[in-house]
Amino acid sequence: MPDGTVHARCRHCSREADIPAYNIVNSRENPELKQQLLLGRIFIWTCPSCGTDNLVRYPLLYHDPDEKLLIWLSDGVKEVEDRMAQTIASEEGLADYTARIVDTPGDLLEKIKIYDAGLEDIPMEICKFVTRQEMGKDVDLKFFRMEGADNRILLTYPENGEMQVIGTGFSVYEDAAGIMRRNPQMKTCGLTRVDRFWLENYLR
Ligand SMILES: [Zn+2]
Repeated sequence: MPDGTVHARCRHCSREADIPAYNIVNSRENPELKQQLLLGRIFIWTCPSCGTDNLVRYPLLYHDPDEKLLIWLSDGVKEVEDRMAQTIASEEGLADYTARIVDTPGDLLEKIKIYDAGLEDIPMEICKFVTRQEMGKDVDLKFFRMEGADNRILLTYPENGEMQVIGTGFSVYEDAAGIMRRNPQMKTCGLTRVDRFWLENYLR
């Protein structure tokens, strides 16, 4: 059951509606809702007047107790983020959790996919950084999935209005994971945005 409603406005015909919204998705307690989330469905509102699919973004906490993972899809309000960070820091049961802030549903889905694949986001950001450099292009790479027996890592990026896929060897990820092991201070604690800007800032 949804936890409440959120106000939505159709980007095509301006029809307004209050649509069902969730506060928390717990992957263990509600695997079906997690699937809806992974398909992007819980952020899509199809306008009953004109049929347009609208992306409706609202704050949401994703909790995976098996991976000890918390991901907060934030609406960017600093006070709310600070309060969430304090709540997480003061919960004893969450001390060994990985806690992240993301700003878009797409970023939330990417993080879930990374951890579902048994990977971690910091080495993945390094992997994306290396791939961007090899491509010689400033593109927004996102983890898509692993492929084949050699666990080739597939990343996607938008170009000319289409989604492109680029593969990179698993050894790139393994090297990145090694860098992280040798630099334990990289392991962030508390609620953090781990993205390309975080990494570029770290490498500076
Ligand atoms: Zn409409």
